[in-house]
Amino acid sequence: MNNPRRCIAIIVAAGRGTRAGGALPKQYRRIGGDTVLRRTLQCFTAHPQITAVLPVIHRDDSDLFAEAAHDLPKMLAPAWGGATRQDSVRAGLEALAAQSPCTVLIHDAARPFASPALISRAVEAGARYDAAIPVLAVTDTVKVVTESGRVAETLDRTALRTVQTPQVFDLDALTIAHAAAAAAGIDHLTDDAAVMEWAGHSVATFEGESGNVKLTSAEDLARAAREAPASGLFDLPDVRMGTGFDVHAFVPGDHVVLGGVAIPHAFTLAGHSDADVGLHALTDAVLGALGDGDIGSHFPPTDPQWKGAASDQFLAHAVGLVTARGGRIAHLDLTLICEAPKIGPHREAIRAAVACICGLPVARVSVKATTTEKLGFTGRREGIAAMASATIRLPACEDEA
Ligand code: MG
Repeated sequence: MNNPRRCIAIIVAAGRGTRAGGALPKQYRRIGGDTVLRRTLQCFTAHPQITAVLPVIHRDDSDLFAEAAHDLPKMLAPAWGGATRQDSVRAGLEALAAQSPCTVLIHDAARPFASPALISRAVEAGARYDAAIPVLAVTDTVKVVTESGRVAETLDRTALRTVQTPQVFDLDALTIAHAAAAAAGIDHLTDDAAVMEWAGHSVATFEGESGNVKLTSAEDLARAAREAPASGLFDLPDVRMGTGFDVHAFVPGDHVVLGGVAIPHAFTLAGHSDADVGLHALTDAVLGALGDGDIGSHFPPTDPQWKGAASDQFLAHAVGLVTARGGRIAHLDLTLICEAPKIGPHREAIRAAVACICGLPVARVSVKATTTEKLGFTGRREGIAAMASATIRLPACEDEA
């Protein structure tokens, strides 16, 4: 997980969704309290390995989209979709041209139940292959039927797979394949793997998941509204709180990294990693809320792979442990204790950085600063201390209820 490649998710949400009926495109219909699109976006914005999320939407849906994406971190400005799905993805890829090299995940807005584990598998496949897709074995018998409704053939289902999203690609390889297909007048391909196949690439597969259904019909939407796993914070009844504390000493240097933000200073902080005392305290707070050890037990300072490491991966790992248990972070509160540098001018940048690392709305992250009135080691400007609290919510646990 050292220096992982950036992973950007494109959410294809430009369709009109007329098959699902109703006045609104299906991605803007509500299941439970949230729109389908907001649920889908949150699958990706909340995933620690996803760097940014690019939505591709229809020009007429700007207001609906703004409501669906309100307050979500990691969101890039939307790209405008085209006449076909293939056109819409190409518009998204063009909007990402400056991000190369990176891994891109393409996901349909109408699949709001992709699990964190599925997205992790996609990211893993993206690190190994230029193109990979989630697939499921076919359990029903499949037959070819003629126009008159007669069975023409029974297929051998052992080699058949149904295909889902997120599909994962090298950004440059997929961009080139899409541009070539468009130039050749090919516009009917229904998924991005087909574009890569057309361009002569080999496409790998990884395990999909049966819960990652595509909502197509009005019936699908109604069933999802009845059966959707609760995704709201308030559906997670087991509220837990953890605290963290950390100190690093000053040594000569020219900047400190606090809460993921580099701040010019006459000293730097000594430490095995980047010595980000704020993110270390937050990581311990999250691990504390989980009852799962501390930062030292997860990332031993004796392990050379963490030398000079950016501390955002420690916090992202801790958040990933919450997500893996079906939980969510409700709130983070960080207090930085030092005489200098002044934190105030950087407070909002730190809030935004922490929110982004954790996939949280900024409103759920608090950053405060104080001095110790020139008392003690922080008062003597020998280092910086940080304390943090994390409130998390977990699903009801049957054996503990
Ligand atoms: Mg530390």
